[in-house]
Amino acid sequence: MKDKPVEVYAIALDLLRAPGNILPRDVARGVEDMARSAARNSLLDPPLGIWTTEMNIELDDYNRFTAYHFRCRGRLLVFLVTGDTVKNTGTDWVWFNTRCGVCPLTLKSIVVPIAVLGKGKYPATWWVKYWERIVTSVGDSPCEKPFIDEAIWNTTLHALAKKCPTCHEAAVREFPLFREKLVKMVTKIIENVRIPCVD
Ligand SMILES: [Zn+2]
Repeated sequence: MKDKPVEVYAIALDLLRAPGNILPRDVARGVEDMARSAARNSLLDPPLGIWTTEMNIELDDYNRFTAYHFRCRGRLLVFLVTGDTVKNTGTDWVWFNTRCGVCPLTLKSIVVPIAVLGKGKYPATWWVKYWERIVTSVGDSPCEKPFIDEAIWNTTLHALAKKCPTCHEAAVREFPLFREKLVKMVTKIIENVRIPCVD
């Protein structure tokens, strides 16, 4: 089911739209859940391409299905770049408060909401690199996936912060807690996006 979400979604819609709606209520609920899971799984991968006549799904349904992906992406990007993230996770993290004299700070960025950090607070550049990567990855996978991807953490924040033993140690300690909060918020945002034809 994870490999072919659009096909699973189309099958579910066919069943739900069966003439006379002959499905018993509990079966219909199961089919709706199947459609929901298919839509949710589609968020793991980049958006699908344009519809073709070979696809086993009607054009309108296909457009609704792909629009779901873009809607989730839009909501998450707003959350990530407008300052909602900072408002919801706080500003006490080491990456927003480092004054070690070793780690460079980023004074201006279009993807990190620097203005909401407060006067005189700037994020460590290694944090900004991590965040830029997250924002890019959410464009392809608008769900929890980029946040729990160990490779992103390892190749950005973890690798770059190592130049400063003090901040690196604090970052390693604080990051799991930050990530846990973030993933919970991402799940909540996605769950509030309507699944077309089902919700
Ligand atoms: Zn430092």
